[in-house]
Formats: sequence, structure tokens, C-alpha cells
Amino acid sequence: MSLLVVGSIGLDDVETPRTKRTNLLGGSAVYFAIAARFFTPVQMVGVVGEDFPAEHRQLLADRDIDLEGLEVAKGKTFRWSGKYLENMVDRETLRTDLNVFGEFDPKLPPAYRTADYLFLANGHTSLQLKVLDLMEQRPKFVVADTMNLWISTTRSELDILLGRIDALVLNDSEARMLTEEHELLRAGRAIQKMGPSIVVIKKGEHGALLLSHDDCFILPAYPLDEVIDPTGAGDSFAGGIMGWVASSNDITPVGLRRALLYGTVAASFTCQGFSLDGLLNIDRKDVDKRCREFREMLQLPA
Ligand code: AMP
Repeated sequence: MSLLVVGSIGLDDVETPRTKRTNLLGGSAVYFAIAARFFTPVQMVGVVGEDFPAEHRQLLADRDIDLEGLEVAKGKTFRWSGKYLENMVDRETLRTDLNVFGEFDPKLPPAYRTADYLFLANGHTSLQLKVLDLMEQRPKFVVADTMNLWISTTRSELDILLGRIDALVLNDSEARMLTEEHELLRAGRAIQKMGPSIVVIKKGEHGALLLSHDDCFILPAYPLDEVIDPTGAGDSFAGGIMGWVASSNDITPVGLRRALLYGTVAASFTCQGFSLDGLLNIDRKDVDKRCREFREMLQLPA
């Protein structure tokens, strides 16, 4: 089944207590696509400026990501820079320059307009709504991500979006901000009342909570010896989930539990390398092997 993503494609500057690197290929749609491509072909809609390096574009093309929907606009590419604290969990956003992403007017190639699965990755809420409007038919399953910036600056559009999607993926602090509920279960249920029947709340190193219809499921994060760089973990988590559901075409509560496992494993690989390295140096066999190991770890005697 076809999978379409729209989101940021950009240049990241990332600083951890041990390393600092600049001009890295990043963006919500990029991390998503690089994780989802293990499971299914990915169509990508986004915009970059004239300064976007040819090797970044090539890297995506080499991974069979469909770039027909990637526009090159006059101006500069989206840029983000972040700095991790010693605990490698908390992060300070140093800069977000939307540049050409801020005025992006998406155009969908005809082949994209009938996608079965649509992921509205982190980006301006009005862009997410526009892409939904451009679809020729409503996709079978529409999932969105959002963040504190958009919750505080585009709340009325976000309320409309929530009424039009099947699932929302967001982190714990964003869920609390959106609902003004502290307990995550209450926050998740409150979001379900706002529209999406499925809510996934990410809790970083503590895993994720999935509410789908009446089902409630929790999954810890895959334990790692060392976290090198968690940038993009949330987007690749969503990529693993959506890549799996698009390939299995299973959006039942049980299918979604399984998808959460693939999302968690994809995110773990992201954290193990700097930037995209952790995802670029593996293949589907590595993902499946880690899923088997994780399943073993999760055995709970009756
Ligand atoms: P994550 O660590 O999962 O939050 O994802 C980090 C990625 O999201 C980076 O590669 C950034 O380029 C991108 N990003 C950061 N802020 C934004 C934003 N406001 N809108 C869209 N993408 C963003």
C-alpha cells in the first residue's frame, strides 16, 4: 500500500556533550522516510532551497525514496539547530529558521493523490491541512505529528486537523500542553475526544503509550548501552509505525501494537548513531533481528 509523507526537509546543526556537527541532512519527513523505507516505498512531499546539497538529495534517491514531490524553491532551506544536555534526553532548540518551508505551497504529483496511508509529519498545521485537502480521495489512514510550537501558535487550525485524522502522535509534554491534563492516560483520552480515535504518546527513553479505540497498550523503549544522538527519534518512530502498517495493511488494535514495536525499534537505531547514521548503516534484517530480541525481552510469565 502506498505511503505518503509531508514534512520538513532541512539542514540540522546538532550538538551533544561529546560532538558537534553542522549542515546535516535532517527534517521530520527525512527521518520518517528513512525509517519507513525498510517496510514499504515512500513518497515524499516537501521543499528545499537552492542551497540544499546535491549529496543530500542523492542520499534520499539512493534509498528509493520517491522525490517527485520534492520542490526546490528560491531561497534558503529549512534550518534547525539543537543542543542536548548531559542527560542526552533534554534538548534546547537553539534556532528554527523555517525559510522556504515557511511559505511552502504544496503541490501533489497525481500519483501521490491517491495514497492509502498519509503521514503529516511535524510542520505548520496549515500545511498539514492543505495536503489533506489536495488528496483526491481520503486515505485509508491519516496520522499526524505536532509539537509545542504549533500547539501554541496554530491552535484553532490544529483543532480542525484533529477532527480530520485517524491518529495523532506526540510526546508527553505536548499531550499535557494540548489537553491541560497531567496524567497521560487522561490526556490521551481527552485527545481522542478531540477527534483521532488513535493516540500515541511518546515518553522518550520511557517508551510509548498507545490508545486505539478502547485498547490501551504500553511499550518500553528498547534498552541501549549508549545514546549517541536522539535527534529524529520521534520521526523515525512514526516511520517504523507507518511503514509497518502500510506494508501489512493492518490497522486493527493488534496490528497497531505490532506497529508500535517496529516504531520503537526504528527509533532505537536512530539514537545509536549521530544524525541519520544509525538508520543508514542497517537493513531490514537488522530491524527484524532486533524486533525478535525485543519480543524475547518483553516475555511476561503468567
Ligand atoms: P525529533 O528529534 O523527532 O523531534 O526530530 C528532529 C527533526 O525535526 C530535526 O531533523 C529537525 O530538522 C526537525 N524539526 C525541528 N523543529 C521543527 C519544526 N518546527 N517543524 C518541522 N520540523 C522540525
